[in-house]
Amino acid sequence: MFSVMYRMVLILIAIAVGILVVAILIIKATKTPAQDIVGMNITCKKCGTRTNGLACPKCKNKSQSFGI
Ligand SMILES: [Zn+2]
Repeated sequence: MFSVMYRMVLILIAIAVGILVVAILIIKATKTPAQDIVGMNITCKKCGTRTNGLACPKCKNKSQSFGI
């Protein structure tokens, strides 16, 4: 009887750790695009050319679509 409860506790701990790991990954995943958006204003997202918030002349000539 006790061993069954002990296993359940271990499973609950494993689930809790798994949720924690997933939460940390989600937080990291949501933080990275925010930094990307900030960097996009300074440099081109596609080629990395410094544009200072202006449209990238290189990518603008290639295609008018924004990567859709
Ligand atoms: Zn570009």
